[in-house]
Amino acid sequence: MIDDGCKYPGCPKRARKTWALVPLCDDHHEVIRAETQRYYNGSVNAKYNLRLEYLKIAKLIPWSRLKMGEVLPDGSLRGH
Ligand SMILES: [Zn+2]
Repeated sequence: MIDDGCKYPGCPKRARKTWALVPLCDDHHEVIRAETQRYYNGSVNAKYNLRLEYLKIAKLIPWSRLKMGEVLPDGSLRGH
């Protein structure tokens, strides 16, 4: 299904999942997922960090699809 490399900067692994349509390997998908969870839980630490991991891939998210509402703010796809 996903035939691409992980888009996390400097990561040489193959992508196995996507986050907001951005291909990521298992490890980096988990990094972003955990960070997002901390962020929504209102952890002080996460707010300090301003979702640094997410920002590394945010520029790769197809914003047109975000605007159409297909991609939700937590990176999941509507209806999935
Ligand atoms: Zn990776």
